[in-house]
Amino acid sequence: MASYIIPYLDPKKNNMEEDPLFSEYTYGDNGERGLTLKTKVSKGDILFFSKTIDTNPCITAFYEVEKILDIKNAKMDNKIMMKYHNPHLYRDKIQENEVIVFGNPEKSMILDPPLLVNKALLDELSIEYNDSPNHSELQTLTLKLRWKRLSNSQVKLLLSKVNPLYNESFLKLQKSLEFQIVLDKTERETIVKARIGQSIFKDALLTVEKKCRLCGVSDEHFLVASHIKPWSKSNHKERLDVNNGFLLCPNHDALFDKGFISFGENGVILISDSIDKYTKVFLNINENMKISMNESQQQYMKWHRENLFIPM
Ligand SMILES: [Zn+2]
Repeated sequence: MASYIIPYLDPKKNNMEEDPLFSEYTYGDNGERGLTLKTKVSKGDILFFSKTIDTNPCITAFYEVEKILDIKNAKMDNKIMMKYHNPHLYRDKIQENEVIVFGNPEKSMILDPPLLVNKALLDELSIEYNDSPNHSELQTLTLKLRWKRLSNSQVKLLLSKVNPLYNESFLKLQKSLEFQIVLDKTERETIVKARIGQSIFKDALLTVEKKCRLCGVSDEHFLVASHIKPWSKSNHKERLDVNNGFLLCPNHDALFDKGFISFGENGVILISDSIDKYTKVFLNINENMKISMNESQQQYMKWHRENLFIPM
């Protein structure tokens, strides 16, 4: 298993051939790099592609590897030849160790916007940046990225940087993002990962709904991704399950989070008797409030009702 950052080849410097082909999630290479792909990379690994935009090195896409084939085998497969247009498939002469990589379109992504690579990101990735009088910052960064082999934690960190809001296929991707939340060794890591998870969770909820479930506040700055079954009580899967949450304004989030309100099976609000009628007015809650829930949300709500809600 090995994941890499690979430079995008400028078609102008590559016989007008684009590689990787973002439109079809393919990438080909040969020689030493082809050998690396063939022998080190396997299904499920991630290839990130980097490119200089203006004067900034950026990661512009990633492919989750589905399959790697020797070009001669790929050329013999009619289905592949009909579907794909990667230049490696169409040259007459096969080069040494020439291979083609197919990315899984559902788990791969073209980044919009691209992820800017700077010293701070290298630092987060624990990649040492050493100034050299002979190279500009851009050159140094570019050299650091070229065929950089990534550890699992570096892959996770990079994936966490990718804002799912910019991609429609987020929900499909959610499954592959689940592995970001892993058992942690130190408190600090736990907090960092929890934050990463929370922001992904909020972004995911924002793709589904964009306002407080109860009052309609729609300014994203004031929307909190509220877990129904709290983060601390959830397992890894539940933490990122969009059904285990909804967006609430800070007001309603505080009430829900502390168990002063919950919801019945029919979605009708349950309000703790400990809240007097004036407070209800000031906190904008009343007995007529109701939300709709799907079956899976109902399950999480049952947990909230039975474990968190304070009836009186
Ligand atoms: Zn609200």
